[in-house]
Amino acid sequence: MALTIYRQQDADINTLHGSRVAIIGYGNQGRAHALNLRDSGIDVIVGQRAGRSFDQARRDGFEPMSVPEASSAASLLVLTLPDESASEVYEREIGPAICAGVPTSAGQAGRTLGFVHGFNIRFGFIQPPPTIDVIMIAPKGPGTLLRSLYVDGKGLPALMAIHQDASGHAKRTALAWAAGIGSTRAGVVETTFADETETDLFGEQVVLCGGVTALTKAAFETLVEAGYEPEFAYLECVHELKQIVDLIYERGLSSMRDRISNTAEYGDLTRGPRVVGEETRRVMRQILEEIRTGAFAREWIAEYRTGCSKFHELYNADVDSAIERAGRNVRALMPWLSDA
Ligand code: NAP
Ligand code: MG
Repeated sequence: MALTIYRQQDADINTLHGSRVAIIGYGNQGRAHALNLRDSGIDVIVGQRAGRSFDQARRDGFEPMSVPEASSAASLLVLTLPDESASEVYEREIGPAICAGVPTSAGQAGRTLGFVHGFNIRFGFIQPPPTIDVIMIAPKGPGTLLRSLYVDGKGLPALMAIHQDASGHAKRTALAWAAGIGSTRAGVVETTFADETETDLFGEQVVLCGGVTALTKAAFETLVEAGYEPEFAYLECVHELKQIVDLIYERGLSSMRDRISNTAEYGDLTRGPRVVGEETRRVMRQILEEIRTGAFAREWIAEYRTGCSKFHELYNADVDSAIERAGRNVRALMPWLSDA
């Protein structure tokens, strides 16, 4: 493998001992980073505006402070704000605190700005001063999983990137942070802000979120249009997806194929490439291009700054669609699903 992958023995968590880490934004990612780092013996503070997440941080035993307060009281600031609003918060509440320098009480590690996704650096929405370190640890999964794996003594793989290394030890800080959240137990893959951002956006648009929802919807609607019952179409085209995805996740494509019937396997090998043919690949390349030129990022930030009306309209259009109604009926048969 040409990738550089760091593991437990490559990281020294002591790098962060004696330094204070501020988690800015106590949401899905922020909460997991804060809890895991604290359980790893790191001095963690939370910067969070008032409201639901603030109250959650309190219940978890933190004493959350305002974002400017936390930003000026720590040497490593981990930004776990939503991508679309992070630059506003940075300009107003974090940048000025960073420029004021590191208080000695926060530790001697130098000032470091940490990201969990490269979006704002890759597309230039946040431009930190050149005098600080700018690093990224991007766990490959949701915060809830980052937390539960850590608690089980396991870890979620993560990507690491260094954008600025003013201190000369940015990588050491990044690896210590990765160790503190448990990711070095699995593996920390070295990359760049650009590669992480572009592949992350591409994956979620083309496969994980956009691709899967559009594919299952199109298949469901094709069966319903042809006269099959919606719940039946749902079971076939959506519900069973989990079993196949779990097999691929655990064993890969070929072993998944070894575990389905020969009929299913022959249908897979001969029909799959027709579903995702040259036209879809052309669109995939176009979507990748929109990501790399920054066109997607500019479109999304403009949508956010003008009130998200298209975003909400598209979301709402699916909430009461036929596939969602059928899904609710199917899941009602298995009340244990919602306990998971
Ligand atoms: P999230 O769950 O929406 O959490 C964002 C947090 O920021 C919330 O606690 C929110 O608090 C707080 N916040 C929002 N606006 C704020 C403001 N103006 N001032 C102070 N706090 C504010 O977001 P997330 O999913 O964790 O995403 C955070 C980052 O993680 C993003 O860069 C994302 O790309 C990355 N990431 C996410 C995942 C994932 O699976 N979710 C995976 C990998 C990386 P309120 O409750 O007050 O709104
Ligand atoms: Mg992602």
